[in-house]
Amino acid sequence: MDTETLTKKKSSSFEELEAIREELDKCMKCGNCMAVCPVYGVEKQETSVTRSKIAIAEAVLDGVLELDDPQVYEMLFNCLVCKSCMSNCPTQVNFERIMLALRAALVRKNGLPWLKRMIFSTLKNPKLFDAGMRLGAAMQPLVFRGEQDGQAMAPRSPFALAGKSFGLDRERLLPGTTTKPLRERVPEVVGVQDAALHVAFFTGDSLNYFYPQAGEDLIAVLSANNIEVHIPKNQSCCGTPVLVHGDVETVRILARKNIDAMDASGCSHIITGCGSCGNAWQHDYPELLGSDPTYGPRAQYWAERTFDISTFLTKVIKLRPPKGRVERVVTYHDPCHLKKGMQVSAEPREILQSIPGLTLKEMKAPDRCCGSGGSFVLTHYETAASIGKQKAADIVQTGATAVATGCPACMMQLLDNLHRCGQDREIVHYISLLAESYRKEQAADSNA
Ligand code: SF4
Ligand code: SF4
Repeated sequence: MDTETLTKKKSSSFEELEAIREELDKCMKCGNCMAVCPVYGVEKQETSVTRSKIAIAEAVLDGVLELDDPQVYEMLFNCLVCKSCMSNCPTQVNFERIMLALRAALVRKNGLPWLKRMIFSTLKNPKLFDAGMRLGAAMQPLVFRGEQDGQAMAPRSPFALAGKSFGLDRERLLPGTTTKPLRERVPEVVGVQDAALHVAFFTGDSLNYFYPQAGEDLIAVLSANNIEVHIPKNQSCCGTPVLVHGDVETVRILARKNIDAMDASGCSHIITGCGSCGNAWQHDYPELLGSDPTYGPRAQYWAERTFDISTFLTKVIKLRPPKGRVERVVTYHDPCHLKKGMQVSAEPREILQSIPGLTLKEMKAPDRCCGSGGSFVLTHYETAASIGKQKAADIVQTGATAVATGCPACMMQLLDNLHRCGQDREIVHYISLLAESYRKEQAADSNA
């Protein structure tokens, strides 16, 4: 089968549920997925594990169960879509495709619940979304106590009670929303003299609104490596939080807007600092737009030119070795979409190990899911917290004083996981440690 036909075939699972039959048939119910499924690991119920979800999907396709049957609905959303089962499956069942196709079919059948419809339609209008985020940032001191701009905040008591059903109980720590988003902090083009390459930075919403300092660090690192960085102002959300809720049409709209923004930049590569954003560009956009004659080829073009910042620095260009000492004992958590989606795992470690003074201490099972799953942590907080407790214990056991990772959603979850165990640690994007090293090197040079 040629690539074009294959792409269209995969894409049709978002339109026709019957297209996942081939994936379902691959499952031999061996149960290997039990060893790695984080939800099963906590709930220890056969209904939580991948093979049971596959059995329920088969029943839906055979007309034995309805998609909106409460049992099916519970199964559909009691999953992080973390891909862990796929990495331990002897027959390579593409469970992510099954799960996303089922959720898309549910939306086709019943539409979206009003709250999701409202949030997702705001995402399609970046100006409105931006205004909403700024309003939220301005209002948050009323609802949360703590610092803003990526620092830890916890809900104030009255809101803690009301928000418990959304995972916002009093103990919960969240990063504050910035009052000055990343794309407003930096110019649209950050130039360097005699640039070796011109790249476009796809910031995603999490770096833009929650961790702008990590975004600034990423730009500083590229500049230190003689790369000109374009940060297109009119980029939108990558769509991953929408895709996992089955709203395929909204993701297509976002994907087309993002492709237009990157095309207009005139750059040669897209750089991401978030595993979910990079995964969307590399895998979701080509599949979702595979049958679109205008955007399909553009999506494929960019899929081949999208890199996590760590891969770009270590594989596409030659990383300028940092010289500034960063005296820290660090452990590294592998985000699911970065490792199991983008296949990036060695590169962030290579970067960390290149930093003088930094000691990398590996935790047990560093690629075990942290329990975030995007909105899973909001809808299934108790399960997410139990998954996170295990991750926190693995971190604590290393004796590291800082945890580095490559995904803002994991950073949020790790912050809360560790705090719940009374084991607060520095949570940092790995690129910020490299930026710190370059800054120290520059400071030492200018003092010399
Ligand atoms: S590991 Fe794969 S083949 Fe085995 S039960 Fe799980 S999904 Fe099915
Ligand atoms: S995607 Fe993750 S949570 Fe869902 S069934 Fe597979 S391993 Fe379990």
